[in-house]
Amino acid sequence: MGENMTEQKYEITVGIECHVQLATKTKLFSEVDNDARGKEPNSCVSPVEYALPGMLPRLNREAVKMAIRAGLALNSEINLFSRFDRKHYFYPDSPKGYQITQMYQPIIGAGFVELPNGKKVRIEHAHLEGDAGKLTHFDNYSLVDLNRADTPLIEIVSMPDIHSAHDAHDYCKELWRLMTFSGVCFGDLYNGNMRFDVNISLAEKGSKTLGKRAEIKNLNSFRSVERAIEYEYERQSKMLDAGEVITQETRGWNDATGKTTSQRSKEEAQDYRYMPEPDLPPIRLLSDQVKAEQENMPLLPADYRATLGVIIPQDILEILLDYKELVDKLAELKTEYDIQGIDKETSKAAILKISNLFTSVLLAEENSSLLNDPMPSTKQLIDLNSMIAKNELSSTSVKEVFLRFFTPEMRFKETRIIAKELNLIQENDLGAVEKIVDEVINDPKNAQAVTDFKAGSEKVLGFLVGQVMKASRGKANPSMAQEILRKKLLEMKILEKKII
Ligand code: MN
Repeated sequence: MGENMTEQKYEITVGIECHVQLATKTKLFSEVDNDARGKEPNSCVSPVEYALPGMLPRLNREAVKMAIRAGLALNSEINLFSRFDRKHYFYPDSPKGYQITQMYQPIIGAGFVELPNGKKVRIEHAHLEGDAGKLTHFDNYSLVDLNRADTPLIEIVSMPDIHSAHDAHDYCKELWRLMTFSGVCFGDLYNGNMRFDVNISLAEKGSKTLGKRAEIKNLNSFRSVERAIEYEYERQSKMLDAGEVITQETRGWNDATGKTTSQRSKEEAQDYRYMPEPDLPPIRLLSDQVKAEQENMPLLPADYRATLGVIIPQDILEILLDYKELVDKLAELKTEYDIQGIDKETSKAAILKISNLFTSVLLAEENSSLLNDPMPSTKQLIDLNSMIAKNELSSTSVKEVFLRFFTPEMRFKETRIIAKELNLIQENDLGAVEKIVDEVINDPKNAQAVTDFKAGSEKVLGFLVGQVMKASRGKANPSMAQEILRKKLLEMKILEKKII
């Protein structure tokens, strides 16, 4: 449905707020561990997160640096002056009774994200804030875990520039790439490292005003963002068709049923009593600090699209861009070929070969666990390519050698040595293959096949090639063997005719 929305009666408008957990070592306002993965509940909590009387927050410098990097990845202006506000609300997972956020003067200003299809989604702003803790509900009691309390977040607020479920999916994925490539987020969606709040409204085509919006909170996968929007389009358009009024409300998404349900109406709009945070001074940055982060920015998806997009087809490159280490390796390979002065067409073909091995072998279901292992070295891959170019490996052998790059015993070995140890190097020496072909033709066991071929049976050629392969213990280049066999047998036939 996503693609067909433009042909429908209503236009859908989507804005997305995304909370990104920053991968800092410590919390936003204290020096306790920020990485609670695999740790006991309430083990990464200091008196600051418990909000004990008299405790004061101290801003984490690393979180500010990461916010700058995130802002640069969003093509945003970085505000040299920003400050914090208190957002008051009561909830058992937030002992302070308020959240420290940046309501009025956020650190990240206007920017944009470009989707793979070229569409641009403007960023309104993004701000720094602390996360809440986590509640787990049981039958008649609930447990509070504050490990996540005041984990640094940036909340990225988009403009309502998205008009299909498909583009919303791509936008969220692109955000994930930008945040993980720039090194500010681990990007573990399953553990809520990025969470999406999606605002969806419908209006009749051509209408200048937006409809009332439904907000779906806390989606944690690209797919659920897409499905929730598709569901809301159906629900809201049915209501509008029936002349019903859409109310502004927060709705929850149920992944199992594929439906959204009403949670609370926005009519009793909450008053958070925002006030400037008195315990933290404003953040004052120097333009040199921003410049320093800019200079240290890692490569982003757009950089890979620019360098690799001329070599690898777009649909393949978009798959590879889900794995930073793969596009990194391909970019490294390109740099190395450039340094060596290899001509453009040769290096293009070589990079394409490796990218095909990545997609067809490494990303195959049965090998996907290898993605956790270190990548092969650039030299191993370059050597593999030159062995392919010299026809020294059959296509099956190429895959076999490639997979060995990931095994502990072979990881540090040279490509040629791996191929040799596995006995996979093809015999391309014309003389050597010719010798084996002669043996096969003259072997009495094969006399019948030779006679059949001469009588016109093409089929037996395959059998004879098989015999050559067997005699060479799999090392003869099969197409070379076939060519020589045919030539020799035809020569024999002509010779026999002349004798008769
Ligand atoms: Mn927020």
